[in-house]
Amino acid sequence: MKTIEKIEQSFTDNVKEYVEQVYATVKKRNPHESEFHQAVKEVFDSLVPVLAKNPHYIKQAILERIVEPERVISFRVPWVDDQGNVQVNRGFRVQFNSAIGPYKGGLRFHPSVNASIIKFLGFEQIYKNSLTGQPIGGGKGGADFDPKGKSDAEIMRFTQSFMSELSKYIGPDIDVPAGDIGVGAREIGYMFGQYKKMRGGFEAGVLTGKGLGYGGSLARTEATGYGTVYFVEEMLKDQNLSFKGSTVVVSGSGNVSIYAIEKAMQLGAKVLACSDSTGYVYDKNGIDLSTVKRLKEVENKRISEYVNEHPEAHYVEGCSGIWTIPCDIALPCATQNEIDAHSAELLVSNGVKAIGEGANMPSTLEAVEIFLKNKVLFAPAKAANAGGVSVSALEMAQNSARLAWTFEEVDAKLHDIMKNIYNESMKAAQEYGAPGNLVVGANIAGFVKVADAMIAQGII
Ligand code: NDP
Repeated sequence: MKTIEKIEQSFTDNVKEYVEQVYATVKKRNPHESEFHQAVKEVFDSLVPVLAKNPHYIKQAILERIVEPERVISFRVPWVDDQGNVQVNRGFRVQFNSAIGPYKGGLRFHPSVNASIIKFLGFEQIYKNSLTGQPIGGGKGGADFDPKGKSDAEIMRFTQSFMSELSKYIGPDIDVPAGDIGVGAREIGYMFGQYKKMRGGFEAGVLTGKGLGYGGSLARTEATGYGTVYFVEEMLKDQNLSFKGSTVVVSGSGNVSIYAIEKAMQLGAKVLACSDSTGYVYDKNGIDLSTVKRLKEVENKRISEYVNEHPEAHYVEGCSGIWTIPCDIALPCATQNEIDAHSAELLVSNGVKAIGEGANMPSTLEAVEIFLKNKVLFAPAKAANAGGVSVSALEMAQNSARLAWTFEEVDAKLHDIMKNIYNESMKAAQEYGAPGNLVVGANIAGFVKVADAMIAQGII
């Protein structure tokens, strides 16, 4: 090895050591937060070449600062159920980073919600929002409330109580929440009403994912699912592949899954299976989307009921079995860590060509490694599912300008944004010595813009 190469290598080794030290501190300071650790590790592992090339990020302690949320809010959410009993849940809002814009990120209502889950989601959101090219910072929130089996009146009482507290910390130029698991148009509507009542004014830009009649944007419902498929389409195109004639498996049957299925079908794919948290359906003729939409969007039923109308399909209890189905393209669109090493091995041995993460962090670190090692095309969540927050930012822009764009206008902008995220991520991967690796590329492209803005704004 030449002397100059030796010096460079030893500098890179020092940077690696520094990154590991910061990561060790994150683990120590945030004990028992395994999802947050996992999200930090994935980003940090990508950043070594950027830090080696830009030592001022180290001097400015960007890593130490970026892993510390600007603010963590945790609050009591008391409400009364239909039997007159008082119930208490825990609410969260993590305002992670506002270097490039007001905090922006969804609210999740699910019994598994805790500080670790909200922090991992908020941390991911920083880079995702940066990748969209829109002026939005990173945040996330939610509650350990289980909407399943609750009446409409209970949902309303809970969301009103939740917003009574959250309203103190948000605003169109401060923090703009949206939906996520368990939070759709109905919940956003109740929260918007409560916010309006408490503030005494119609501030449309305080929440996104609103109904169309009061400031919502066309194509927001479709945005995350469509965006994921647009992103994967670009990735496939580069390898002379396409959705046309491909078989696809999509996990979940919620907002992201339904519109990923719809767009994949429009592009000529056959979607063989989808799921919910109790099991999956496999339909060799291709999933009938109108049945799934009615069961899930209108009747609020379990996916198992699909087979009552399509006897040729099979229902199987347990959701991880969905990854045993051979397919060309897998789109995990349900929840975090739904593809572990075992499922990843199965997908690879069954010949999967591409993975597109519609959900946040649906693959474990080991699963990602298996995909990359086996040259499976891999679209990581923070790039692939950025379509939802992109159209949320377009909703904010329409609210500010008091305009409403057509579906076609918003969809065209979404498509352009997803192509741009793909190109920027590929470019960053190439520039930093990991050609084709979109995990590295997305992390770096998202990070650099935020780091530079943090430096420009001083030590705050
Ligand atoms: P929804 O609540 O609309 O749907 C979630 C779906 O996933 C449901 O079908 C649910 O089933 C299923 N699910 C939940 N847990 C599991 C599990 N352990 N195994 C299998 N299926 C499960 O949520 P969204 O579609 O909005 O969100 C899905 C994912 O996409 C999340 O990771 C979210 O963070 C991410 N995301 C969402 C965005 C959006 O715009 N909505 C934007 C970017 C990312 P069940 O009904 O039984 O609970």
